[in-house]
Amino acid sequence: MEITRFAPSPTGHLHIGGARTALFSYLFAKANKGKFLLRFEDTDQERSKDEYVDSILNSLDWMQIKLDAEPVYQSKRIVKHKELAIELYKKGFAYACDCSEETLTKMREEQIAKKQKPKYNGLNRNKNIKFSEGMVLRFKFPLEGESKFKDLILGDIAINNKEFDDFIILRSDGSPTYNFSAAVDDKDMKITTVIRGDDHITNTLKQINVLKALGATIPKYAHLPMVLAESGKRLSKRDGAEDILDYKKKGYLSDALINYLVRLGWSYGEEEIFSLEKLQKIFDLSYVNSSPSKYSQDLLNWYNNKYLNFLSAEELVLKVKKNSEIDFSEINNGNLAISLLAKGANSLNQIAEDSIYFFEDPQVNFDALKIDKNKKILFSEFSHQLKQIDFEKNSIEKFIKEFLQANDLKFPQLGKPLRVILTGKENAPSISELLFILGKETSLKRIEYTLDD
Ligand code: GLU
Repeated sequence: MEITRFAPSPTGHLHIGGARTALFSYLFAKANKGKFLLRFEDTDQERSKDEYVDSILNSLDWMQIKLDAEPVYQSKRIVKHKELAIELYKKGFAYACDCSEETLTKMREEQIAKKQKPKYNGLNRNKNIKFSEGMVLRFKFPLEGESKFKDLILGDIAINNKEFDDFIILRSDGSPTYNFSAAVDDKDMKITTVIRGDDHITNTLKQINVLKALGATIPKYAHLPMVLAESGKRLSKRDGAEDILDYKKKGYLSDALINYLVRLGWSYGEEEIFSLEKLQKIFDLSYVNSSPSKYSQDLLNWYNNKYLNFLSAEELVLKVKKNSEIDFSEINNGNLAISLLAKGANSLNQIAEDSIYFFEDPQVNFDALKIDKNKKILFSEFSHQLKQIDFEKNSIEKFIKEFLQANDLKFPQLGKPLRVILTGKENAPSISELLFILGKETSLKRIEYTLDD
């Protein structure tokens, strides 16, 4: 059975890149009828915060990503990791090192002077130093050959072992290092496929060697190419939101975000719309693109607009109320109004912001229309005739058409000012629908207000 995990360090909120990694990991597990686990790599006591643990949990919950077991907290496993590091030392896979800061600095400076890559040169590798508290333990990285694996997305990856050094697995303060702890935890959590960002490729080669020394089965690995900003640069705060929950606050639907995220580097023929339910069946890592993908706010907005319009008016009313406390059920034709606004909206919040004129009369002065004073008569006539008609959608449309013809007007000559009169805005939905939803009384009241002024 496939077991995957998401292993965030709770040193910040869940951002776009992390959310995509979590989603791919989750979907891969589900599509293979496997399990998805969560591990907080919270050993950095200064930078790890409970606040971030909570916000990551809330983000995953909002994204409908369900855990198949309680989260693992790496900080609770430090004692076990230390014991295992000492065991590797006893078995000869690691050695104790008492190099001083000065020795290490000198080593580094000499290497830099010779234009070599700075790394530990193995000074104490064969000295059989007896380990005691306060010393570090270094992993005996293989000296010959290469370390390699077949990445499920990127294919064969191999690096000459000479590129690596005997990295530290246990620090002098007794704390284990990331590459050691991650390998131990992947082993103990019985992870079968590790899915993470491609910034971890070198770590993977280190961890594979640790896992071999631990006698563990080596999991499969899939490294996801980065998500870049539209500019091609690293994604920053200004591009994607730093915190996935900000999308929730701004009125994005989690289904839309999921659909958007899954299409960041993954494709399935020509299809663009995927429900989470479907993704849980069809997701396959072999369709992940091996080059970086780019974050696009426009595309995310496009998805959110689509998903807003998949909802019924009743669902929209509830969601808008929850997000912004604007309650469409308080107004006449609220369901029609919200559906009309959803057509052009990118978020629940935009629906709420655009909705003001359904709740309050805009009170527009004639001057604001930027048209000739003598056109007032035309609008009086329009208003007068509007009073007479039956306020059904078809009759409103028919009346507008006839009025334009009879007065030799093009639609914008009437439509543009009328839209401002009715809504206070230049960009608003179709006039006939607006008139119908506002109703005869309100429409006439607004037109008369403007003409009276
Ligand atoms: N804690 C690591 C990070 O947040 C993830 C490591 C992993 O997935 O193995 O980058």
